[in-house]
Amino acid sequence: MNKESTLLPCIAVESLTGCAGELLVILENLDKLLPFVRVASFPFAQTANDDGPVDIAFVEGSVSNPHDLEKLKKIRSKSRWLVAVGNCAVWGCVQGGACAKCKVSDMLAAVYGSDSQIEVLESKPLSDHVAVDVKLSGCPINTTQFLSVTASLLKDHLPYITHKPVCLECKLNENPCVLIEKNLPCLGPVTAAGCGALCPSMGAACYGCWGPCQDPQMDAMATILHEKGYDPIDVINRLKSFGAPDHLFQRMSFQYNQETQA
Ligand code: SF4
Ligand code: SF4
Repeated sequence: MNKESTLLPCIAVESLTGCAGELLVILENLDKLLPFVRVASFPFAQTANDDGPVDIAFVEGSVSNPHDLEKLKKIRSKSRWLVAVGNCAVWGCVQGGACAKCKVSDMLAAVYGSDSQIEVLESKPLSDHVAVDVKLSGCPINTTQFLSVTASLLKDHLPYITHKPVCLECKLNENPCVLIEKNLPCLGPVTAAGCGALCPSMGAACYGCWGPCQDPQMDAMATILHEKGYDPIDVINRLKSFGAPDHLFQRMSFQYNQETQA
């Protein structure tokens, strides 16, 4: 390590239970960061890692076992800014959605047998356990958002992250609406923007991988899908599969609410 690099801000890129998709996005963009940061720890990409304090820790994955929890607390204690990267870290994603539907002990017994000694926790986002400074959703995260969040934090500013719906980006792209024109079950109206309306820009429906937008109008979404001949429960369960928490659905009409809890 040369003298100049020790003067640079330090980052750590760590993972809990996840698919490593965010790590790949960060790795792909590391060359853009390296003039401005020192990578103190990135076990996915380098062998020499140090455990010292860092300015920014990017953490991927959800807390799904005691080791994840211990690791997360340690990362929190040594980091100035903690950024949850990816839907798993922000919402719990697929494993969080599965935990909302059935008991962890039942899943464990089904996969490993009833006498399994494996320790698991109900899969949860990082903010259920520690303070999180920035939540950067996506499955995986968007490169432009990642670089702009990092640039803000390096200048000591908390970044602005939009929680408006995907429809906003879709309209800015001047896409034809696949919900209206193709009758596809697009979840853009209740999903957080950030991907640049990737799927509708390719003529496909948004399936909600960014997690819910701010104050999503679930009842209106369900009604529109119902009117178009879709079973809103199937579609809303897709949102839940990406970790959307139950309380977002509790303001829905009695009928939908009862069925989604079934
Ligand atoms: S295609 Fe989907 S994201 Fe785009 S405007 Fe229509 S509903 Fe919204
Ligand atoms: S359009 Fe929807 S499903 Fe597609 S990448 Fe964006 S948030 Fe995910």
